[in-house]
Amino acid sequence: MTLRSLLSLAVAVIAAFVLCAGGLAGLVGGGTATAGCVPTAFPPSAASPAVWPAVGGWDSDQVGNAATIVTTGNRLEVPARGWVIAVATAIQESGLRNLAGGDRDSVGLFQQRPSQGWGTPTQLQDPAYASQAFYRKLVTVAGWEVMPLTDAAQAVQVSAYPDAYARHENAATDLVATIADTLDLPDGLAGCGTTGPWTAPVHAPLVSGFRIPQRPGHDGVDLAAPRGTLIRAATAGTVRTVACNAVHADSGADWGCDRDGDPVRTRGCGWYVDLEHPGGLLTRYCHMDQPPIVRPGQQVAVGQPLGVVGSTGHSSGPHLHYEVRVRRPAHDNRAQAYEPVDPVAHHTRVGAPLGHHPPHRRAAAPPVPVPPPSAGPAEGFLV
Ligand SMILES: [Zn+2]
Repeated sequence: MTLRSLLSLAVAVIAAFVLCAGGLAGLVGGGTATAGCVPTAFPPSAASPAVWPAVGGWDSDQVGNAATIVTTGNRLEVPARGWVIAVATAIQESGLRNLAGGDRDSVGLFQQRPSQGWGTPTQLQDPAYASQAFYRKLVTVAGWEVMPLTDAAQAVQVSAYPDAYARHENAATDLVATIADTLDLPDGLAGCGTTGPWTAPVHAPLVSGFRIPQRPGHDGVDLAAPRGTLIRAATAGTVRTVACNAVHADSGADWGCDRDGDPVRTRGCGWYVDLEHPGGLLTRYCHMDQPPIVRPGQQVAVGQPLGVVGSTGHSSGPHLHYEVRVRRPAHDNRAQAYEPVDPVAHHTRVGAPLGHHPPHRRAAAPPVPVPPPSAGPAEGFLV
């Protein structure tokens, strides 16, 4: 490990505490969610290469422009999720080219318009200036860190084609991750798995396992991420269910998801999402703090945010209860169409292990307070 990476880790640890304490609230317009898979630190970046190499389908000029967007975001202390939003926006607006013109008086990487107060044409053809103008507006959008990328980009750009941004999310994530790795920026994107078919839905300690002897009915695993942590789709799929399931344990009456649940008095998954995946797989994400940010029928990409960690339903404290299920054969007539499997074993098999921090932070991960496992009956509410 180099000295610089040790220093980066030290900064990351400090930043993690600041973020968990809500230190970014002023910057992000009151949002309390932490960005990305892990909190982001903001050390100065390593020197940018004079000429960037081509990356994937992007040529040197395009990668260089993306790198300017990333380093500007880092300098402004915008979390890495913002870099992805900015790069995806620039892909849509200009193909990552610093254009001299465009529609009406639009100019530059983000096709910003001088007539709309973004700056002079000369300023807007400076990629660093244009990036800064984008970020300055982005961070005024309340809750931008937990919005779908399209909504955040549209809030800044006010485009006639807002839905076009989302299709660049994976490409932008890959490009940002590559650039951040090159510059030794801890972007929190490593291990988010957007370059692979699977990712961990959160990077957090495993605090309760699958069908352990004390909890034989526990059909998933519990990951102790702080309240507000983004929960990401473990792999690409289709949203099957978005619902609140929280009832009084004794009466079965509705408990609601507008407040935390209780490990004894509440049953159910709280705010939760089920995703269906190719190959007869289903993943489930429980106890979200807020209504999920996806809708039934929506296609989601690997790593796409679904909602944020909370403690709704049968829960003793903020964590993600996460399940992986496999469809039963058609001739199997049991009530459940899907059979729960051990998510830890499954994620190890697909190369996206659970319960780990991203590699560049693992050695110095700060101690995370571990809530006691939920007492009482398991929260697998679907029989
Ligand atoms: Zn659980």
